[in-house]
This record gives sequence, C-alpha cells and structure tokens, in this order.
Amino acid sequence: MIGSPHSASAPSVPARPAGRVGTHPVPRDGTLVGVLLTGFAAGVLACNCYVLAEGPGSDAIIVDPGQRAFGPLRRILDQHRLTPAAVLLTHGHIDHIWSAQKVGDTFGCPVFIHPADRFMLTDPIRGFGPRVAQAALGALFREPRQVVELDRDGQRLDLGGFAVIVDHTPGHTRGSVVFRLPEPTGAGSGGIVLTGDTLFRNSVGRTDLPGGSGRDLLGSIVGKLLVLDDDTRVLPGHGEASTIGLERRGNPFLQGMRL
Ligand SMILES: [Zn+2]
Ligand SMILES: [Zn+2]
Repeated sequence: MIGSPHSASAPSVPARPAGRVGTHPVPRDGTLVGVLLTGFAAGVLACNCYVLAEGPGSDAIIVDPGQRAFGPLRRILDQHRLTPAAVLLTHGHIDHIWSAQKVGDTFGCPVFIHPADRFMLTDPIRGFGPRVAQAALGALFREPRQVVELDRDGQRLDLGGFAVIVDHTPGHTRGSVVFRLPEPTGAGSGGIVLTGDTLFRNSVGRTDLPGGSGRDLLGSIVGKLLVLDDDTRVLPGHGEASTIGLERRGNPFLQGMRL
C-alpha cells in the first residue's frame, strides 16, 4: 500500500474514517474558537481527506483529496455551504492527490504542494510500485490550473481565515510536508497538525518507495513534530487521529530515541 503504516500491529488499511464532524479550537486572527473539522477515508487506499472551515457558510481548506473524494467532498461543502479556498497536499502520492486537479479546477482554488513532489501531479506512476501503476493506467493526470509550490520551510499561509504553517518533513517522500494550525495564544488547547504519511497513530510512514529515507523521516519527526506540545492533535493521512503526547510516549517506532 502506498502510504500505509509499516507496523506489525497497525492494519495496512485503516478500517474506519479518521475524522468526524466536530469542532476544535484553532487560532485565527481574532476570536475563532470553533472550527468545523471533518474527515473521511477516500478510495481503496483509504486516504484521509480533511476539510477545515471556520463554520457553516465560510471558506474551507481541503487537505489531501484522494481517490473518489470528490463526491463526499461536494456533499460536505453543500451541507455546510462552504467555499473551498485552497487544496493542500501533504505529498504527491497518488492516493493523496488523486482528486486534487478536479477539486481545484472545479472550485477555482489553488492547489499547494512542495516542489519536490510536484512531478507526481502529472506522473503519479513514477513514485509507485507496479501494482499501483497498473491500477493507475487509464487515469489521466494533469496539473491543476493553479499550482502553488510550498518552497519555504516554515512558511505561513493565510487561507480561509486560518493561519497555516507549512513544515517540510522529507522522509516518506522528498516533498512531504505537514500543515500546522498552531495553538492560539493563551487559549489553553493544543493546535492541529496534519501529518500526511509522515506520522501515524502508533506508526510512521514507510520509506521504501522512491524518494524515501528512513533517516530523513526520523529527523523530520524529531525536529518538526516532537517539538510540538503534547496536546497538539495529530490528523494523519491514514488511520485514526492521535496527539503528539501519545506518539511521544507510545509510538513503537520512536522509542529509545533521544526526544
Ligand atoms: Zn498515503
Ligand atoms: Zn504516501
């Protein structure tokens, strides 16, 4: 599987969607306390697609619209009267980018990806093994009309009322990033980090695909994720949500490291 955790205990494909409609306090310049956050697992590879919005009727950020994500996504957007402001891609693997062009072009919003993974938007087979390549045959991938490269580590994006910090976390792919919505000052509740296939609940991303590096992956996790507060909510690309604290203490792939 493309992005599945390589863990002895974790299922290769998560059985349940990782997110449900709910609210979570995240920062905005001003008074935002409630955020519509919904996620669903899309496609046979069960990639989590997330939708972040201030609330009904507002702009929305869509993260990793994978295979067959368009239909459920459209229902969520209609239901909450949301207007997509951006599509954010944690990396270029096909199960995460599958519907990005359709979503971006249909709604007229930009698609953000790290430059090192941009080639996968039009050549998704290059990053994958033969089985997935075969499955992808017949699918025509082209770049969205608006592509924005996430070329500055730590850059801040102001999108849909959110401040999103982009941290480059190579390892699973060269162009993997995590999207961080930091804790509001003094609010007393952790922020959110969307970790793609870099960090999962009780597992980490595989590094045996083209562009992968185990050393880089652990460096990214230690340097960019484990430095976050324990109560930071982790929304991974596959499987269930977690927190930085839970992973710091319980992730078997991170034990014995100087954290
Ligand atoms: Zn994946
Ligand atoms: Zn992946």
